Amino acid sequence: MILYDMHLHSTFSFDSELEMTAAADRALELGLSGIAFTDHLDVNYLADGSDVYYDFGDYLEAVDKVKAEYEGRLEILSAVEVGLQPHVVSENISRLSGYDFDYKIGSTHLISRIDPYDGTYFKVEPERVHAYRRYLREVITNVDLYHDFNTLGHFDYVVRYAPFGDNTIYFREFYDELKTVVGQMIRYGLAFEVNTRSYDKTPMDLEMLKAYKNAGGETVVIGSDAHKADRIGRNFKAAVELIKYCGFDHIAHFREGKPVYERID
Ligand SMILES: [Zn+2]
Ligand SMILES: [Zn+2]
Repeated sequence: MILYDMHLHSTFSFDSELEMTAAADRALELGLSGIAFTDHLDVNYLADGSDVYYDFGDYLEAVDKVKAEYEGRLEILSAVEVGLQPHVVSENISRLSGYDFDYKIGSTHLISRIDPYDGTYFKVEPERVHAYRRYLREVITNVDLYHDFNTLGHFDYVVRYAPFGDNTIYFREFYDELKTVVGQMIRYGLAFEVNTRSYDKTPMDLEMLKAYKNAGGETVVIGSDAHKADRIGRNFKAAVELIKYCGFDHIAHFREGKPVYERID
């Protein structure tokens, strides 16, 4: 079937050394139809207050080059993963204005400026329910303040670095918050991202995807969040089965800001 990896980081991201052409070659090997380079814009992200940012002009030029090189074999899409924080809304808007991307993801990486990635967060919030609830409330605040993007990125990002053993965020357990997140996706027309990066370690509770479907959501996107070539397309086979199991018969990718739906075989 026609499948796109809609979440990849190239060398334009501070935390990736994945060359665009290496990513494209790997995607071809895997039989994918397209990929999107969703490099990080994270305003006021670093400890010293500075931004994770790159020149969008240079980035779009690089994407165009790779696009031309792989034309007819693999579709290359321009994209950005916008880091959401309550106090950076206007900065995000001004950074992005004037640039056209095929696709935009909005992601919450920070809770009160702490990325759970570095382990500090779970020292501040050692209790599972509090730690997760606080993260989900941050997502809700961020999305209410700013939602000019296509897809909500990894709604359960916090689980990746959690030390609890069973790290899954269960829909029933965080019903109020997750129901609110689903409501936001519907209200603001956001696609659901099945981010497969850590699903072999911490599976997503399928009730979340079913709730999106039941609320009328139709647009599901898959992304590996790869920062290395060998992570591209990771867990995709299982993800497609799960998406189908939850009642969807199409998977989407985005081109020029609009969803394109491909039937699941
Ligand atoms: Zn992310
Ligand atoms: Zn990412």
